[in-house]
Amino acid sequence: MSIADNLTQLKKELPEHVTLVAVSKTKPVSDLMEAYHAGQRIFGENKIQEMTEKYEQMPDDIEWHMIGHVQRNKVKYMAGYVSLIHGVDSLKLLREIDKQASKHHRVISCLLQVHIAEEETKFGLDENEVMTLLNSEEVRNMQHVKITGLMGMATFTDNEAQIRKEFDTLSDLFRRIAQDNAGIKTLSMGMSGDYKTAIAAGSTMVRIGSSIFGARNYSIQK
Ligand SMILES: *Cc1c(COP(=O)(O)O)cnc(C)c1O
Repeated sequence: MSIADNLTQLKKELPEHVTLVAVSKTKPVSDLMEAYHAGQRIFGENKIQEMTEKYEQMPDDIEWHMIGHVQRNKVKYMAGYVSLIHGVDSLKLLREIDKQASKHHRVISCLLQVHIAEEETKFGLDENEVMTLLNSEEVRNMQHVKITGLMGMATFTDNEAQIRKEFDTLSDLFRRIAQDNAGIKTLSMGMSGDYKTAIAAGSTMVRIGSSIFGARNYSIQK
């Protein structure tokens, strides 16, 4: 199936309240343009240089989402155009985003990444750290950063029950903080392999790559 066919098929499956981020990392601009012509306007990338190159070559009405881990010294390269940063996991990073966004007179929406997987390697905050950041006077006073929700990745496993349990944990935290924080609206969870489980657990934003663009070949990645 073509990229356009994959997108059409996928959109039929997604409930109306779920936003689709087309994860285009490692894929050429021609593939992204095929998705664009099929109506897709939100793209997710995990490397700043690659995202900026694509941003410069592609139409202006695209929302660019940074879905990868963000190093503080790279924030300046995306602050002028990024619409949502999914992987925010420290106060220091929020400070840098606030500082760089202010230079562009922008307010950048951010999701706090929560650690829900078993694996040690996945980045993210625990519940206490999420609460501390949300309740911090300093964060609340940031003029150029808006925390709009949470993001998480489940363990890479075939065990559906475990994935569901991890998504339920994140969804429960999301619901609790959304109750007390009017600006918390987005729960980013679910990828090609687990988006149906994520949506059943309450996801409002799925990040899907290979089911749209096909498998990635990392040997050709810069
Ligand atoms: C690559 C990536 C995805 C998409 O993965 P697929 O399995 O190709 O759908 C989603 N989220 C993050 C954070 C990623 O790095």
